[in-house]
Amino acid sequence: MLKHKLEEISNCLERFSEREDKAKFNMYMNLPHERLESIENERLAYYKNVIEPFIKTYKMNFFCKNDELYRKIQYLTKNCIQYIHFNKVSLSSIAQDIIQNCIKFNFAIDGKNVSRSKILKILESSSDPKLRKKAWDNFVLLGEKNKRLYVKLFHLRSEEIKILKFLDIKQWINYQYGLKNFDINISSIAHDVRRELANLLENLYNVKLSNLKPWDVDYFCSFTPNDKFSIQENQFENILKKTLKSSGYDLNKMKIRFYKVEIPYDGLCIGTFFDEAKILYNPRKTIESLSYLFHELGHAFHTIRQKGNDYLLASAESSAFSEGVATCFEKIVMNPLFLKQELKVKKDDIFFLLKRMQLKYLYDILKMLIGVEFERNVYLQNYDNIDQLYSNIYQEITGIEHPQNSFWASTIHFARDIYSLLDYLLAEMISNQTLYTIYKKQGYKNYLYVIPLIDKYYILPGGKIDWKEKIKSLTNSYLIPRFFIHWNIQNDEV
Ligand SMILES: [Zn+2]
Repeated sequence: MLKHKLEEISNCLERFSEREDKAKFNMYMNLPHERLESIENERLAYYKNVIEPFIKTYKMNFFCKNDELYRKIQYLTKNCIQYIHFNKVSLSSIAQDIIQNCIKFNFAIDGKNVSRSKILKILESSSDPKLRKKAWDNFVLLGEKNKRLYVKLFHLRSEEIKILKFLDIKQWINYQYGLKNFDINISSIAHDVRRELANLLENLYNVKLSNLKPWDVDYFCSFTPNDKFSIQENQFENILKKTLKSSGYDLNKMKIRFYKVEIPYDGLCIGTFFDEAKILYNPRKTIESLSYLFHELGHAFHTIRQKGNDYLLASAESSAFSEGVATCFEKIVMNPLFLKQELKVKKDDIFFLLKRMQLKYLYDILKMLIGVEFERNVYLQNYDNIDQLYSNIYQEITGIEHPQNSFWASTIHFARDIYSLLDYLLAEMISNQTLYTIYKKQGYKNYLYVIPLIDKYYILPGGKIDWKEKIKSLTNSYLIPRFFIHWNIQNDEV
């Protein structure tokens, strides 16, 4: 009877997920779509009328510990509590409006419309600081459009935090990820990363980090500074196919579809459940862009290789873990042998590219720290001037001065979920610890082992095994914060 009821609930939730994914896909492709809000409303009603009474009846005398059903119940309970206590429906409709603003924004330089990709290209590769500033100002304008929505969203989330009574990131991590006593000291990590970044900039370009402007950083810290390292667009999917084939997989046999579309993300994977995934990516020709495509491929793998009911259990896995899996895929591109063999980068250029990747990596970590620290302040304090709060935190963490404006609101990161940048931060730790182990065990830098090992240890066991145990089974240790800053590619091994 219990099993039967659970099956019924899980089937219903899967139908919700499928509809939600379809609506999301249509939204990004600018196709007619029903608002996700209506799906959320239906789901909320279903939680209240069916799931909550069911859990109330069975939770207390539930006997099967640690098996599939038990974990499913835990997952449903967690979601149920969240939906009933917090106004998730209005949160999700505000988030959608922010995303819509980002999708529909008219990027322009000197009054002439340009694509989002073009703006990013200017920031990364134009040697003209004035032009870069003009490109950057587009995001300030977009931020102004989003600011009011974000303030509303932060207000709703503050209520959520108050109910949960979290005082700091440590408590949040303990609750959300089940990582007991896992300590992230933001200012100490920022200090170490900033020092490393400043040294590299001085060595490579004789540039002082603190002298940079916010619109200079991408220019110095993206992977691929110029067209010398560009990849033809039609090569992207071929490179994925070839790498997968050498790793023992046939992409043609997997239901993964690719769509080139201007989206406000680096890339996006939408799993239309069971065995199909859609990858949306920006049409850009850089190595960096290729790494984002690998990242999304990791998500697609994670989605389609979960079978049947595991789909639901897999969604119960932490989003930090699924980002960790995707980041392992992404970092294949940062492997010197991959650069040499798959992208035909000349030996003399590899050292330079690795340094650029390291710069980008360190700057990305700083950006995540800024985001986490910003959210923490926004949720826990009363703020009079949110723009000022952001620019203060930006300066504290990077050492770079930031004008007081709404640039912070141009990103969709804060809209996705509460502390979503923390997921990416943990994903860096997960991927670094994993790749370090794989390269050490399997012959250093042998990137073709990465996908099969991730598949075997992280993906195929599904949601039945806790993700922290999966990490231990592959790396012989639970998640260790020190792998966070650890950069595992040694240049002398090229
Ligand atoms: Zn991701």
